[in-house]
Amino acid sequence: MRCPQCGPRETRVIDSRDLDDSATIRRRRECAACSMRFTTYERIEAARLIVTKRDGTRQEFDRERLVSGLRKALTRRPVPDSVAEQAADAIEAELRAAGAGEIPSSRIGTLAMEKLRAIDQIAYIRFASVYQSFEDLEDLKREVDTLYETKGAPGGVPEAPA
Ligand SMILES: [Zn+2]
Repeated sequence: MRCPQCGPRETRVIDSRDLDDSATIRRRRECAACSMRFTTYERIEAARLIVTKRDGTRQEFDRERLVSGLRKALTRRPVPDSVAEQAADAIEAELRAAGAGEIPSSRIGTLAMEKLRAIDQIAYIRFASVYQSFEDLEDLKREVDTLYETKGAPGGVPEAPA
């Protein structure tokens, strides 16, 4: 593995750990020359996940897009940077665990809302308001009321959009 700072291939692994049920290994490496530390991820090359959108079009699951959607919702919220990546990993793992076949895009949206709801309620509302396209303020208020009602009893799953 080439050092991103100075180039030589002499790097040392200083830490290895399994992520998301061992489908990914994260390694911390240190360059033997300049001591720069960096992280690499080793991932099993998995079968492609095909997502069907509401209009019937199909496309390959886009993990980066999911991460950026989660990041956007979590902007300036008091959570570590790695949270969006971790949530995306968990969502991808759940999609893959469900087996082969096509995944409706609404399933991904529902999983994303589920994760965000457990992570940060403001981020959840932000995501849900875009994803479910709240028709008016009444819808948004209802969603907020529901959150207050279920506060203290996390783990609730928002209803899938019709
Ligand atoms: Zn180096």
